[in-house]
Amino acid sequence: MIPAGFEYHRPTDIASAIGILQQHGDEARVIAGGHSLIPMMKLRMADLAHLVDLQAIDDLRGIEIAGGEVRIAAMVTQHEMITHEGLGTALPILREAALQIADPQVRYLGTVGGNVANGDPGNDMPGLMQCVDARFELVGPEGTREVAARAFYEAAYFTARGDEEILTQIRIPLPAPGNGYAYEKQKRKIGDYATAAAAVLIGHGTASVAMTNLADTPIWSEDAGTALADGDVEGAVAAMLGAIDPMADNRGPVAFKKHVAGVILRRAIARAQQRAG
Ligand code: FAD
Repeated sequence: MIPAGFEYHRPTDIASAIGILQQHGDEARVIAGGHSLIPMMKLRMADLAHLVDLQAIDDLRGIEIAGGEVRIAAMVTQHEMITHEGLGTALPILREAALQIADPQVRYLGTVGGNVANGDPGNDMPGLMQCVDARFELVGPEGTREVAARAFYEAAYFTARGDEEILTQIRIPLPAPGNGYAYEKQKRKIGDYATAAAAVLIGHGTASVAMTNLADTPIWSEDAGTALADGDVEGAVAAMLGAIDPMADNRGPVAFKKHVAGVILRRAIARAQQRAG
């Protein structure tokens, strides 16, 4: 299938992009790497008269590590996150997760902004961003605001982002030195979305745990983090298994998904514990 016809816009600054969204309302959508949106348009699950390409907006590019945080602009690709030297040292869990997304062709074009803004429960970055306590910067007609990743996801494909807002950057606090981390993903084959995936960070007396594709939204469980911070691995697994709400689909029935979730989470915790200094 090819998508229905649309008008293509290529603004060079954020204000112009927002202006086009305001002008065309429901008929317009921004496009980043196009690796989620174009397939949806081809399948006629999205029908848009105007696409606003963000590729020519320089302000949406670049990774900065300063002042105790990492700032990743929305149009940074998954490939750039994998190859950025400073990021690999400062926050290696991002590289570990990005390497497990799809395949190199998708990662060359797919952006971090598109991955987190899309609201697809199968995407890997939203759960990871909840684990590392990221904040999303949104710019719209009313100005700039920030939303915590842990408060951003409302339901499948529904987020706290307004229709005329653009996600411009992601801010992540640097974990304390010596933290242990792991991103573990079970998928049916290379290039597939997760059957279950787990992001785990363990610090001194702290821990954070989130899982992907086991509910309508990513699941960050405060209780799982609290139990893990106390060294109670089985308590953490039990808390997370109580928080997820998987649906039966072509990746398997509910009981299978819960089983896989437990296996993947235990593996992620074990690897994060080994890495913790
Ligand atoms: P686009 O497709 O351009 O946009 C996606 C949505 O987000 C659109 O609604 C768009 O309007 C909106 N959007 C994009 N950028 C912004 C912004 N800055 N502000 C506001 N809204 C914005 N992903 C995974 O996580 N894990 C996988 O295993 C995986 N496997 C894949 C396998 C295949 C074969 C393919 C084609 C894709 C796969 N993906 C996977 C999805 C891929 O990572 C996408 O590239 C990504 O989810 C979306 O990023 P994008 O830049 O392509 O966004």
